[in-house]
This record gives sequence, C-alpha cells and structure tokens, in this order.
Amino acid sequence: MRFGLCGLMHITSGRRRRSLDSKLDKLDDWRRTHYSSDLSPQLDGKESVVFGWIASIRHQGNITFIILADKDGFMQITVKRDEVGEEFYEKVQRLGAHTSIGVKGVLRAISKAPNGVEMLPKEIKILSFATLNPPTSLYGRRLPSVDKRLEIRAVDLRRPAAQAVFKIRQEALKALRAHLIENGYHEVHTPKIISSATEGGAALFPLLYYNKEAFLTQSPQLYKEQLVMAFEKVFEIGPAFRAEQSRTLTHLSEFISVDVEEAYVDYRDSMNRLESMIREVVKEVSERCVNELKTLGYCLEMPQEFKRYSYDEVLDILSGLGYKLDWGEDLGSTHLSVLAEVNPSFYFIVDWPAQTKPFYIAPKDKYSKLSESFDLMFGSLEIASGGTRVSSRRLLEKRLKEKGLNPKSFTYHLKVFDYGMPPHSGFGLGFERLLMILTGQSNIRDVTYFPRDQRHLTP
Ligand code: ATP
Ligand code: MG
Repeated sequence: MRFGLCGLMHITSGRRRRSLDSKLDKLDDWRRTHYSSDLSPQLDGKESVVFGWIASIRHQGNITFIILADKDGFMQITVKRDEVGEEFYEKVQRLGAHTSIGVKGVLRAISKAPNGVEMLPKEIKILSFATLNPPTSLYGRRLPSVDKRLEIRAVDLRRPAAQAVFKIRQEALKALRAHLIENGYHEVHTPKIISSATEGGAALFPLLYYNKEAFLTQSPQLYKEQLVMAFEKVFEIGPAFRAEQSRTLTHLSEFISVDVEEAYVDYRDSMNRLESMIREVVKEVSERCVNELKTLGYCLEMPQEFKRYSYDEVLDILSGLGYKLDWGEDLGSTHLSVLAEVNPSFYFIVDWPAQTKPFYIAPKDKYSKLSESFDLMFGSLEIASGGTRVSSRRLLEKRLKEKGLNPKSFTYHLKVFDYGMPPHSGFGLGFERLLMILTGQSNIRDVTYFPRDQRHLTP
C-alpha cells in the first residue's frame, strides 16, 4: 500500500493555526469500539466508532476514500456524497494526510478493503489538523536517510515498517523476560549513576553528582554480581551508557542491556542459558509476529547448533584464509567479516586471552593466559559477552591493577567478596543488536525509538 501526502497544508501562520483550531471538534464522550485489527467481514452491518490518523485520502468523482491508520493497521472509510450530505462531504474535502480524526458509522463487508470491511460514515470529528508536511516523504518508495527521518521521529514511527520493527521489539522483550522469570531468575534494578568504571575508563559519561564526580553506568556488571549473593539468579533489562568514540551502524551511546548473572555455575552454563533464551525469543517472535515479519519481508533461519570456536581455532581459521592476527589481539572488523563468511549465523567464540577481557573475567586456571569467556556472534556482529567471574577478592585486586585500574575506587565492591562470594557466571547482551537480527535491520538506529549517538541528543 502506498500513501500520498495530498491535501496537507504547508507552513501555517499563527492566525491560520488559530482559525484551524476553531474548526476542531471535541472528543466529548466518543470512545473507540474497534481498532483496525478488530475489524472483519463478520461485523457487516454493525455500528462502530474508530479513531486514527489519515494515511491517505483519494477523491474519485463523488466518492472519497480515506485510509485511516491506527496502531494496529489500516481501515477504509468510504465517503459517498449522496449518502452523507453536502456539509459532511465538504468537511472531508479539507482533510489531509496525518490529520487525526474519529468516525462513527456502519461497517460493510467488502473484499477489496483492508480486513475485508469498509466503514460507511455517519458522523466525523476532526480532532487535530496536520498543518505541516513532514520534511521527507515518509511513505514514498525510497526511504530517506535515518538522520533525516530522526528529525521528526514521532511521525517517522508511523511507517508500517517501523511499526513492524517496534512490535517485534515489544514481543522480544516480553519473551526474554518471560523466559528468564520462568527459569527462576529474579528481575533487579541497579543504579545507573555510579562512582567508577566497569568496562574500562574511556567510554564513560561523567556527570556532577551534587559536589562529586560520578558517571553513567556502562553496564550493571558489579551490582549484578553482588546481587547473586542474596538472590543467586538475577537479571536486569535496562539502559547502559557508553561514550563511543566512533560512529558505527552497531553502536549507540545509550542502549538496552540484557544482563544475566547466576551463582554456582560457570561460563558453559551461561552459554547454554543464552542459547536457549535466544531460541525461545526467535520462536516467540516468529509465531507472534507473522504479519510484521511479512511487512519487513524477513525470515530468520536458525542453525541446528550454536557452534563454539575457541579463540585459538578462530586464529587458525583466519590464518588458513590468509589473515594473520597476533595471539592476544582482539578481532578487528576485517577478521569479523571473514568469520561471517565462514559462519553467517549464531556462533560462540570462547576461551579468549585474558588480556582482551575485563578485569572481572576469570582466568581458565592459575597460570593460564586464557579466560573462561565467550562472545556470542551473529556473522560479524557481537550480540553478547560473558564468562565465569573472578570470585576471589585477592585475584580481583590483582586483575584490577593489571588493567591499570585503582582497587581503592572499587572498595565498595571488593569488600563484599570477604563475605563468601559464591562462584558465578553470566553475560550481557545488547538488546538492540539482537533486534537487528530479529528484524533484519542493518542500522541499530532503526530498532531504537530515539537513538542517542554523537550526533543525536535530540529528539
Ligand atoms: P563492541 O566490541 O561491539 O563495541 P563490547 O565488547 O565493547 O562491544 P560488551 O562490553 O561486551 O561490549 O557489552 C555487552 C554487549 O552489549 C555487547 O556484546 C553488545 O551486544 C552490547 N553493546 C556494547 N556496546 C554497545 C553500544 N555502544 N551500543 C549498542 N550495544 C552495545
Ligand atoms: Mg564484548
């Protein structure tokens, strides 16, 4: 379905705006009886009240077809001049796309209309005129750049593809939460204003906390570890903030992190949990979002297993393909693109050199340079990182120093370890990254309501 913006008025003066306001109707006691998704031919002959914004309006002789959109989809209002009378018909001629209206009328089954039903109106209320054209044609065939669309994001989100993405976001969130709660995890909320870094200092956003320097949290890592002492299995779905130095398609300055932590398990259990959680989310989304996936023209194939390659194996694969990497170095974007050709779907990279991982990740054993760690990948995109955590205070202090961090800044955390910190393991998953995969979007901004990055502090 394509929509035009016909009938939209251009820049409006204050006087014109006041005069338009005086033409608006009041909601009064009108209340919706049906959303577009409730409509079906079985309702033929029923009275109905619908609300929404005009997606398109087309005049054909003495008939005007309004395609009305609401949060669930579209419906057709067929205005026949000889049935509604002159005053009503005149009112309809003033309407343009994005105008917000309410319509009372009778439903009639008709195969050509959306949901197999049209409304023959009896009364109409104009509730808000759209007095401006959006800066770009939102419903045209060519999608304007994300930056352009973000200028008026609230309207951009009316695009059917955007609606589909965010409905999938909602279902994915529900499925994640349900999976974790059903498996005995306790949902927690940790502070977002913190006193010290967890993931390395450079990417922190500083702020003034009364008369002290504080930071926005990069992850709930240390607090979720502390919480396993009392609750054993915890999770949090909440914002994390990172002052990313480069602008990419996969990084935001504020993203939603899905964090899971559990006592008396190690990184193999965390990988199993992560894999079953992802499988569950994919299953739920594919069952519950059939129409949305159709709108996006996208279908995610799941692999039989999430393969586990060790870091050393990855180095061998890369070297076999002519890409050399010194042991201990992190994988760069070229290496990741090569790996995506070898495995374009979900897979784990495990047993990373300890030097590439944060201080709280446990070494494999006392003298090993390897760590009990993993990244979950989808092709070249990292979705989650996790591992067995250090649970000894002495080792944690040593690791902090090795990473150039001052243990004194972490006293509030370290002292907890004196009271019997159990062995524990967990992971952090980037919710928007997972959504990119669930919806087939290549820019993380397209799965985020109001993305924050170096260029966007508004809207
Ligand atoms: P990357 O190497 O991709 O920058 P990272 O290894 O620094 O990620 P982690 O500290 O491991 O990130 O964070 C856990 C997860 O959070 C990542 O696997 C990713 O899915 C997500 N994530 C991290 N940084 C961002 C960001 N700036 N925007 C969106 N998601 C992010
Ligand atoms: Mg990582």
